Amino acid sequence: MKIFMDGNNNCIFCKIIAGELPSEKVYEDEKMLAFRDINPAAPAHIVCVPKIHIDSLNEVNANHENTGYVSHILEKIPGIAETLGLSNGYRVIINIGEDGGQTVKHLHFHMLGGKKLPVKLG
Ligand code: 5GP
Ligand code: ZN
Repeated sequence: MKIFMDGNNNCIFCKIIAGELPSEKVYEDEKMLAFRDINPAAPAHIVCVPKIHIDSLNEVNANHENTGYVSHILEKIPGIAETLGLSNGYRVIINIGEDGGQTVKHLHFHMLGGKKLPVKLG
């Protein structure tokens, strides 16, 4: 379990949070950043990340005092969706680990919308 309050040097999302890499931000506050995915899978594809490094949902635990970041992001997502005009609905996805298809090892919530989404796995 790794949590880096100052970020993980090798983590692309920590670099985006730190402003060391550019991103197209759609929402930001003290606990989270939401930005447009570089390779969008839908007309609206936003990545929401906590402003602390958490490897994946598997590392979210009350003992690690990071659950507040997750609840905060979930509370903010509907407002972000409204700002983006996703009044017809959208999907939130968390990929976890190898089988889940997680490619960036910093917990993130995908927001997908802007069209009727084609594949329904859940
Ligand atoms: P995962 O596959 O880990 O669930 O999602 C990682 C997502 O981050 C992918 O959809 C990928 O397109 C996106 N991504 C990877 N690197 C960057 C980047 O440098 N900038 C932005 N905006 N998105 C990125
Ligand atoms: Zn990170």
